[in-house]
Amino acid sequence: MLALIDLDGPIVDFMSSALKANRSDLPLEKMTKWNVWETLEIPKDEFWKNIEETDNFWEDLSPTSWANDLISMVEDHGFDWIFCSTPSRDPRSASGKLEWIQRHFPHKAGDYSLTTKKFLYAKAWHTLIDDSEINISEYRTMLAGEAIMWPAPWNTMRKVTEPFPYLDGSLTRARKRFEHFVGS
Ligand SMILES: [Mg+2]
Repeated sequence: MLALIDLDGPIVDFMSSALKANRSDLPLEKMTKWNVWETLEIPKDEFWKNIEETDNFWEDLSPTSWANDLISMVEDHGFDWIFCSTPSRDPRSASGKLEWIQRHFPHKAGDYSLTTKKFLYAKAWHTLIDDSEINISEYRTMLAGEAIMWPAPWNTMRKVTEPFPYLDGSLTRARKRFEHFVGS
């Protein structure tokens, strides 16, 4: 079994740095829309330009406080895993993400996929963990594997205040589904 673990949201605290780059002091709980610029009431281009003008934005993002616990739980359920992340249009986003992985998870330096089409990975033995409603719903339309929406203020799982029991249950479901698939 393989887990595809999204970076921004589950593992990387993109939002705090994105707000800082856009000179906003809004708390994360207020970020209830995926399109952050709508909450900030600025044009989309301006939002991304402020990020592009921040030196080493992608390399210097902080890990989330729960990143290691999330990965440990995935491993405890018997999954191998890779990172699966969507870069922005700025080429430095892709290179910065690779730099970030090498810096924080050097043993996983080659275990990643950078793509806008995570649904292409939908397979019976794959589980996507992601905070994007679009990524989750696209993956689910492939009718293979499991997609777990990591709770965040900007998605419909925002009311889940205890993400780890929820993740535990979801991974158990994914494992059972896989075992059923292989007939064990
Ligand atoms: Mg994400």
